[in-house]
Amino acid sequence: MSRPRADMSGVPDDLCPVATVPSPMLAGDWRAMRPVVARERCVKCAICWLYCPVQCVVEKAAWFDIDLAACKGCGICAQECPHRAIRMLEEADA
Ligand code: SF4
Ligand code: SF4
Repeated sequence: MSRPRADMSGVPDDLCPVATVPSPMLAGDWRAMRPVVARERCVKCAICWLYCPVQCVVEKAAWFDIDLAACKGCGICAQECPHRAIRMLEEADA
């Protein structure tokens, strides 16, 4: 999902670009851990969706899945899933 660029008209050229240009940095670029959903265990209770701080849990036909481009790997979904359907994997092992 692309975000609209900020209106840069009127911004002095000598200002630091980091401070003036918002960057749509996706967490998938730096995440250390990733959640993996065991589809056969998911009962679609939506608890993970409710607790995810960045709202990257997405509903599928028979389970809830993770948008890994936006997921920051905090592990809250895995901690809160009452059916232990989510486990966290090291990115290096994924
Ligand atoms: S909390 Fe667990 S069981 Fe509930 S929807 Fe999420 S993954 Fe499925
Ligand atoms: S690991 Fe954190 S950011 Fe990623 S889906 Fe779970 S709660 Fe959301």
